[in-house]
Amino acid sequence: GLGIIPFESFAVPTTENIFEEKDINLIRLRSNENPYGPSPLARKAFADNVNISNRYNWDVATRLIADLAKRNSVKDENILLGAGSTEILDLVAKLVSQDKGHEPKVNGSANYVIADPSYDYWTVTLDYLGLTKIKVPLTTDKKINLQAMLEAVNQDTKLVYICNPNNPTGTICEREALVECVTRISQNTIVLIDEAYLDFTKQQSLSNIVNDHKNIIIVKTFSKIYGLAGARIGYAIANKTIIDKLANSQSNTNNSVSVVSKLAAIASLKDDKFVSNCYILNENARQYTINELQKLNCECISSNTNFIYFSLAKYNKDYFKQLENNNIEGGRIYEEQGKWTRITVGKMNEMKQFIKALE
Ligand code: PLP
Repeated sequence: GLGIIPFESFAVPTTENIFEEKDINLIRLRSNENPYGPSPLARKAFADNVNISNRYNWDVATRLIADLAKRNSVKDENILLGAGSTEILDLVAKLVSQDKGHEPKVNGSANYVIADPSYDYWTVTLDYLGLTKIKVPLTTDKKINLQAMLEAVNQDTKLVYICNPNNPTGTICEREALVECVTRISQNTIVLIDEAYLDFTKQQSLSNIVNDHKNIIIVKTFSKIYGLAGARIGYAIANKTIIDKLANSQSNTNNSVSVVSKLAAIASLKDDKFVSNCYILNENARQYTINELQKLNCECISSNTNFIYFSLAKYNKDYFKQLENNNIEGGRIYEEQGKWTRITVGKMNEMKQFIKALE
């Protein structure tokens, strides 16, 4: 019959290797992940805490929020946790689409403003929710044109999204100009500043201004310099009123992330040595890659991130074929005119293989 199986006899199955041979050697330079992560302290936290996954452990969210508040010099009430920054972006999309179309507007419908090109994978949610996309071209040196963003805002604009530094171009806004711009826009419109890559720069976050302005939301992630992309941890920083509104459409408020991931994030925040190492290793591999790409006639945009935006207009081979033949995963073309593409900065030896593949 069905007797009770003693707990000790549950064998731990051997782990199957889920990767195929070709995946093991694949050089992943597509998604701006951190090739060195997770940090040693985060790895230990993952391993140590698997065994408490049988409990919800709600209090761990409270601890992570307290650490993040401290790190960003804000209060606990200014933080909201999400499953990656993408969940936060989705919550913002839900928030700003709430009153779409309630009154007939000049252009017919609610809209959002975004630089072009910028990080727009997440804007499918805004499109789905019925907002019209207003794209604002970058300056000729591939920077976000703050003045043009400001001018693109009209009475139907529900959201302005600024990715700083910008993905895919790697350019950064000058902080003073950015503060001035978002201060003006946020008087009537929600401004979302995506700081996914700010940790690769020395620029200070805009977190210090969220309590002076009613409509500013900062979004941050553990996916990049902290090396926790697969662990899915991100967060919003905003004033309490906005945080509460965002939390209203997240039923499992602050707890969409597993307890193991949250504890890994807490540990990561203590691993400053890892973060500063990643910063330097990225800078070195990035500089090497830019120098070599320029030798291959590929114009590069100066980068403030862990990726490089460069032009294939004068490259005389089939770039994508070269990558494929060498088992390298790269990015797509962004602007047909100029054939701009993006490559993630991996480890130095990976970047050497990348350059060798192009030669
Ligand atoms: N924002 C930017 C600018 C990104 O480049 C990415 C990922 O590449 C994300 C947000 C989403 O990251 P995650 O959901 O892993 O935090």
